[in-house]
Amino acid sequence: MALKLFNTLSRSVQEFVPLDPAGQKAGLYCCGPTVYDVAHIGNWRTFVFSDLVRRYLEFKGYAVTHVMNITDVEDKIIKRVRETKTPLREYTDKYEAAFFEDLQALNCRMPHHTPHATGHIPEIISLIEKLMARGIAYQAADGSIYFSIEKYRGCGCTYGQLVKLNFEEMRAGERVKSDEYAKEAVADFALWKARVPEDGDVFWPSPWGEGRPGWHIECSAMSTKILGPGFDLHLGGEDLMFPHHEDEIAQSEGAAIQPAGQRFVKYWLHGAHLLVEGKKMSKSLGNFFTLRDLLARGFTGREVRYLLLTAHYRETFNFTLEGLQGARAALGRIDECLGKLRERAADILSATPAKDSNAKDIPNSDSKVADSELVKGFTEALDNDLNISAAWGAVFEWVRETNRRLAENSLKPAEAATALDVWGKIDSVLGIGAPKISEAPADIFALAEARTTAKKAKDFKRADVIRNELKAKGWLIEDTPKGPKLKRL
Ligand code: AMP
Ligand code: ZN
Repeated sequence: MALKLFNTLSRSVQEFVPLDPAGQKAGLYCCGPTVYDVAHIGNWRTFVFSDLVRRYLEFKGYAVTHVMNITDVEDKIIKRVRETKTPLREYTDKYEAAFFEDLQALNCRMPHHTPHATGHIPEIISLIEKLMARGIAYQAADGSIYFSIEKYRGCGCTYGQLVKLNFEEMRAGERVKSDEYAKEAVADFALWKARVPEDGDVFWPSPWGEGRPGWHIECSAMSTKILGPGFDLHLGGEDLMFPHHEDEIAQSEGAAIQPAGQRFVKYWLHGAHLLVEGKKMSKSLGNFFTLRDLLARGFTGREVRYLLLTAHYRETFNFTLEGLQGARAALGRIDECLGKLRERAADILSATPAKDSNAKDIPNSDSKVADSELVKGFTEALDNDLNISAAWGAVFEWVRETNRRLAENSLKPAEAATALDVWGKIDSVLGIGAPKISEAPADIFALAEARTTAKKAKDFKRADVIRNELKAKGWLIEDTPKGPKLKRL
């Protein structure tokens, strides 16, 4: 089955056909974080979405090159650097490190390239020079370089490929220097910002004097440097559609670096925003969460990842703490099933007769059917513009069926092992894996160990007290032939 994706450029669902004539390689660029603060869970929705796209392309057999830039110089960063009197690099390094820690906690695959804006000043300057040479960029009285929308349109190019714009209301010659502006304020935007006193020591030399790059130009320069002048997929949150992505197209196609007939990007994918408790996240509303806030409340990266992956990427998603509790329960169901499958599969290696020696021997087993139904249902769902809800539907149907067979003792160890292999393939896309032992907090482990020690000393009263304490903290301890096991209640 072919993968189909909603392309913002055509506003339709299209079959994904990579630019690579061999149909094997796929280039993916996702606008990365602006490292001026710790990323919030809205940002994480977008990055988990791009991780899903990358993982699914890999599942489909594509050799993906995944690029995610780090915006380490921009208006907001400069403001913070000024306010905190911290050197730029020192300031951004801290938030970049926090970003990668969170990326790992959410089990996102590391992009193959994570270029920094400050590491690509020569490439940025060279792209602006191309625009200057074509007469599409100009220097204003303050020394800054702007992109001329009028000249660009005059070359027969379309400004407004992703969003509809009203040029009738646009006043010729109007300019905008700040990196962020609304659709109503469509205007010539800054490519290179001449140095001003507020920039402190954040500036670089350029043919047009000292200054710093605008935000939009960095993505054009870095994406094409790594992926080539035209590439397959460009992702980001829906707020980036305008002006950021529109400006990226204008800069890259305006510089005419693509071979004739080729576009800057073939497929544009935009993730819808995340709301918290039905509202836009804001510190004043008290509904602003970073991943760290949620971890401090005792949730795991895995639970947050699961929740962020439950809704279709083009639908606004309402994040709630109850939703996270639901994620915990859903993962618990998957984990329980996987745990039993592992126990069953382990019987293959056991010298003792398999527990199912009396089990019915079903020739073309139900288990095989359930496994292939899972793969079929899962891929059909994700091929259809990443219909994740239907994909989870296939997963939970498989869990139900597998549990049923485990309960009636009709699943042979070899079938359990196969089921686990199939799950491994599915999970290469979902990335929820199995809970790591370390996901039970250290104090819970300490209690579990204290209970084991009490039992060994035949102090059953104390062991029971500890069991109840664990229960009060939301953990169940189960004694199994392989030793005690911790389970979330
Ligand atoms: P930033 O660090 O602000 O450049 O944002 C990083 C990514 O997060 C961008 O792709 C944004 O579109 C995305 N983003 C920002 N806010 C939200 C939100 N509330 N929900 C989903 N994505 C968001
Ligand atoms: Zn970008």
